[in-house]
Amino acid sequence: MDLDYPPAAQAFRAEVRAWLEANLPRDLCGWTLRDPLTPELLERLRGWQRTLADAGFGAVAWPVDHGGRGAGAVEQLVMAEELARLDAPAAVNPIGLTNVAPSIMAFGTSEQRSRHLPAILRGDEIWCQGFSEPDAGSDLASLRTLAEHDGSDTLVVSGTKIWSTLAGHAERCELLVRTDPSSRHHEGLSVLLVDMASTGIEVRPLPTMTGGNEFAEVSFDAVRVPIGDRLGPAGSGWRVAMTTLGFERAGVANLFLRTDARLRRVHDAVVRRPGGASATMIDRLCRCHVDTALLRLLALRAITAAARGRAPGPEASLAKLLWVRAEHAIAEAAGAVLGPDAVVGGSPWAADICASPGIAIAGGTTEIQKTILAERVLGLPRDPQP
Ligand SMILES: Cc1cc2nc3c(=O)[nH]c(=O)nc-3n(C[C@H](O)[C@H](O)[C@H](O)COP(=O)(O)OP(=O)(O)OC[C@H]3O[C@@H](n4cnc5c(N)ncnc54)[C@H](O)[C@@H]3O)c2cc1C
Repeated sequence: MDLDYPPAAQAFRAEVRAWLEANLPRDLCGWTLRDPLTPELLERLRGWQRTLADAGFGAVAWPVDHGGRGAGAVEQLVMAEELARLDAPAAVNPIGLTNVAPSIMAFGTSEQRSRHLPAILRGDEIWCQGFSEPDAGSDLASLRTLAEHDGSDTLVVSGTKIWSTLAGHAERCELLVRTDPSSRHHEGLSVLLVDMASTGIEVRPLPTMTGGNEFAEVSFDAVRVPIGDRLGPAGSGWRVAMTTLGFERAGVANLFLRTDARLRRVHDAVVRRPGGASATMIDRLCRCHVDTALLRLLALRAITAAARGRAPGPEASLAKLLWVRAEHAIAEAAGAVLGPDAVVGGSPWAADICASPGIAIAGGTTEIQKTILAERVLGLPRDPQP
């Protein structure tokens, strides 16, 4: 692995840095999905997404035809580094950009691509992902939301999805449904690109302990979805959904940048602490540094693989495990250094600490990632299926 950036990437960094210095809305800096999202803030974040897209910085690795620059994975990393360096606001459409758009590029018709990709890139369409159900999470293939043909060119969807991030703000949903009612498990599933304004959709917000309002439960009561909004062939839903989750896990590789910044903040808090740092604190911090250094190397490895044209593989599961471990360690260290002050009185640490249990569950739990690694990397016997 060559850890030096090629000259073209250095030139790109200078271009991005100059543009961000001139255009970044400073008052939005620091915003993440863990923070509350008011309608006014949503519109400002959409506006920032549009500004990035119009300047060609919205998704630099996307093909030029779809509004990107056709740049490589290294330029994509440089872009992420420069955004993180200035603590730029997180993307308001992360599911659309990271999970849905690459899936539409892989499986979509030319009409679906031209309809949705520019809208995702410019933040005009915010997307959510309707996979989990009250009785189907890790065992996703047991999902029961049903989409039945009504005899014409329409599917009629009924069921309930839960833990759908951004559902309360989204224009569209990548929805995993059962299209063959006689099928079981991974067979007979399809993915639909559902308009969230359709009649019969009810979104019920689920408050979280971070104070954010990004979560919701969504019910579908005889919602009519045109057959042209199916992504991929009928019955290919499992393959499409697993591809989407692969892109989601690969996206975790870039998160080390923000993790690294958080670690530096904890470090500073320890150094400034009256009486200095105890041996236990130094030990905790050293462990955090080792984890984030490992995470960085793993992320660079994933990026190198992507630059060589390889699709995201099971190593993304390893990056996710390490990211979760590093975030937990940082949250623990912040709690140990600051005590109760870490989570009260508008503490900047409160959202991170409260969000840290959830990240071990989102996008596939720690146990499920370990199963993926055991089976696909270590070649151990498959997990017994009930
Ligand atoms: C922050 C966050 C964001 C999310 N965003 C979305 C979203 O946008 N869209 C969406 O569809 N879902 C989303 N989810 C839901 C998430 O995908 C599910 O919560 C997750 O897949 C786990 O499913 P579950 O909650 O039903 O738990 P279960 O599957 O019921 O798991 C319960 C416990 O049992 C363990 N377990 C289950 N099966 C096994 C096994 N085979 N071997 C060993 N241990 C096992 C799990 O690891 C877990 O500890 C989100 C969740 C969180 C926390």
